[in-house]
Amino acid sequence: MAKIIVVGSASIDLVVTSSKRPGAGETVLGDSFKTVPGGKGANQAVAAARLGANVTMVGRVGDDHYADIILNNFKNNHVSIDYVEPVTHMESGTAHIVLAEGDNSIVVVKAANHEVTPAYIDQSLAAFDDADMVMIQQEIPEETVMHVGRLCKERGIPLLLNPAPARPLPQEVIDNAAYITPNEHEAAILFPDLNVAEALRQYPNKLFITEGSRGVRYFDGNDEVLVPSYKVEAVDTTGAGDTFNAAFAVALAEGKPVYDSVRFANRAASLSVTKFGAQGGMPYREEVEAQL
Ligand code: ATP
Repeated sequence: MAKIIVVGSASIDLVVTSSKRPGAGETVLGDSFKTVPGGKGANQAVAAARLGANVTMVGRVGDDHYADIILNNFKNNHVSIDYVEPVTHMESGTAHIVLAEGDNSIVVVKAANHEVTPAYIDQSLAAFDDADMVMIQQEIPEETVMHVGRLCKERGIPLLLNPAPARPLPQEVIDNAAYITPNEHEAAILFPDLNVAEALRQYPNKLFITEGSRGVRYFDGNDEVLVPSYKVEAVDTTGAGDTFNAAFAVALAEGKPVYDSVRFANRAASLSVTKFGAQGGMPYREEVEAQL
């Protein structure tokens, strides 16, 4: 079993559906309300565990009721929470989502996720022993991403950086990552001076740009490769990126070649979009293998 460490956010999504989005100062009646575990870090940890990895989450929750929901969800999905320490006198991270008029509006409150600091990583170093892969995203402080990059380099652990949500990154972070997986929008922000083909050529077998239903593009050292995604009836694409990243990390950590790892990840991500919810649609290993 590959050992994967996920350093990242764990949140609760508070999701309201309504036929109308309220304007400033307006009150509208909604249709439904759901509380679901989310956060890119937690989503990727859950997906990797369902795909058969031994996963440890390094993150923080608050000391509120939502913390219990987040921690129970990790336990139910066999993600180790030995390094998820509650922050006292603070709320858990939340995303306040309104689904209305065919689109979503989201307010994210970082809260405890902001306490995934470099000092917290230093306090959690034992988590990284014998790791086959470390995964990180950008819903935690920028200096932590930098710190984990250095740590992985020092220890020779491959780091998969999913640069979402988009923000520019210091060159050192890019250099220290083994794999970087932006979508097209994130790639444009990461490499403002390069077009897609130039960026891919600069980082062969390292930069993997996800292009939704088209698939994933990378440069293998000789040629630009497009690994097509699988045709499915898409119901809800939330969490497709998280599933892709988790599956890609699991396959690489198990020693699969790059092309096969992208195919496995495309298959897992395509299955995830056929069901509602980020974690709701994340497939288990058997489902992915049955359809490869
Ligand atoms: P999100 O933010 O919605 O989770 P993302 O913008 O980070 O996703 P995308 O490039 O949209 O990332 O999707 C990631 C991967 O998921 C794609 O490379 C592809 O493998 C798969 N995928 C996404 N949408 C579809 C789709 N409609 N059909 C099949 N596969 C899809």
